Amino acid sequence: MKIIMLGAPGAGKGTQAARMAEKYNIPHISTGDIFRANIRDNTELGQKAKSYMDKGLLVPDELTCDLVMDRISQDDCREGFILDGFPRTIPQAEALTKALEAKGTAMDAAVDVEVPDENIVNRMSGRRFCPVCGATYHIVALPPKKEGVCDNDGAALVIRDDDKPETVKKRLDVYHEQTQPLIDYYQKAGILKTVDGTQSADDVFEAIVKVLA
Ligand code: ADP
Ligand code: AMP
Ligand code: ZN
Repeated sequence: MKIIMLGAPGAGKGTQAARMAEKYNIPHISTGDIFRANIRDNTELGQKAKSYMDKGLLVPDELTCDLVMDRISQDDCREGFILDGFPRTIPQAEALTKALEAKGTAMDAAVDVEVPDENIVNRMSGRRFCPVCGATYHIVALPPKKEGVCDNDGAALVIRDDDKPETVKKRLDVYHEQTQPLIDYYQKAGILKTVDGTQSADDVFEAIVKVLA
């Protein structure tokens, strides 16, 4: 199964994609995680990406598309994959459609996790992130077992640089302008599925499994 996760920043795409990857036994590919790993390792890509991410802007398509096309060509993606945070622009979506077409295949579903803007600010201000394994928590809704510490590896959780309130506002504007048109794009392609993302994470997951069945 080849699935795209759509939704505003902070809608819960990553949280759900991690659960889906386990259930369907396919890789979870998050472009945000790839960029953050490159920033942590101080690579050239990381340095370039950080300058955009810190401002709440999208990383340019030319730095993003090839990276994803390479990743989905790897062996572990043969049975499918979950794209989380890609595509985020119409040109990215077109590049993906074209790359898959060339291989005689296509995406199966685009799942839009719907959460209104007023809930997003709370989601992102409470988000905590493990710099070691990438796990995501929320201080109220999805807290770790021990405050401030990752359940998986005991690392100290951090606040993402781009989750500051002023950056969140910019990211939401960018989402509405550049990413929301993808809902229409995948509706027209006939693969759009919509779920209510304001429910508990368990209920959202149940809803996703249902729309994909
Ligand atoms: P995205 O990948 O779409 O940016 P995340 O999965 O990182 O979003 O979720 C954003 C924040 O909201 C995180 O702190 C996460 O723990 C929390 N969260 C995710 N799903 C829910 C939910 N259904 N209810 C409440 N909080 C949630
Ligand atoms: P995320 O972890 O999905 O919230 O992504 C964090 C940041 O990484 C975004 O705000 C963008 O700056 C950048 N990013 C992630 N995915 C993409 C993409 N597909 N296109 C452009 N920028 C991206
Ligand atoms: Zn961890």
